[in-house]
Amino acid sequence: MPPSSSRASAFTLIELLVVISIVAILAGMLLPAVSLVRDAANGTRCAASQRQLGIALIAYSGDNEGLLPPAIAWTEPWPESWDRFIIGQLASAGVFGCPVDRVSPPQTRTVDGFTGTTRRSFSMPGVNAVAGDAWRERMLTWWDTTGKTCTPGTAIARLPDASGTALLMERFSSSNFWLNNSGAMAYGPPDLPSRQATPLGHRGGDNYLFCDGHSEKLSAQRAAGTGGMANVTLAGGARGVFTAVAGD
Ligand SMILES: [Zn+2]
Repeated sequence: MPPSSSRASAFTLIELLVVISIVAILAGMLLPAVSLVRDAANGTRCAASQRQLGIALIAYSGDNEGLLPPAIAWTEPWPESWDRFIIGQLASAGVFGCPVDRVSPPQTRTVDGFTGTTRRSFSMPGVNAVAGDAWRERMLTWWDTTGKTCTPGTAIARLPDASGTALLMERFSSSNFWLNNSGAMAYGPPDLPSRQATPLGHRGGDNYLFCDGHSEKLSAQRAAGTGGMANVTLAGGARGVFTAVAGD
């Protein structure tokens, strides 16, 4: 009579293999679901950060004759960026970063006693312009290439379409970091094709903060507006969420 222990251990080995196979199959089925949940959580955190920035930016305008901070201001000795103007109103500098941004370099800075290490994943949509450029009047803000300053756009209260005008858009870039004037203004429409082609952001689109304080995820096509992706250059006529114009 053969020893029963060898039959028992052979059976256990088969059982073990079956269990391992089942676990592997289950893991294969669960991983996409886990990835979806993680993406959704990151999108929610990003939108919550944008809304906090929106509250701070709108509060700033309330204290400054209704005007938003400039995307970039040419001050001495260094130009300032929009984030500099609202630091004092924020509990944490972490709201400047999107959780899926692994491109914008984190920076540790101390300004007015407020110290934080953060990425900056968001920029104000704007345009480089000189006096007489027709399209600059449609934008929220613009960098005056002759005056070397960034003019605040229309006051929020006078925007014809505050809920359809983007105040911040996602822009992951090695030049976009906290309190750096470079990268503080995004060129909006021209950035869209690269963001559409490169899966850097959230599943299905980017989060946009609007001038009424709400945050919304939009595909590149929806953000581009009525002109569509074929018409996203500034000279060709910026449209969609990148302008202060209603219904475009
Ligand atoms: Zn984000």
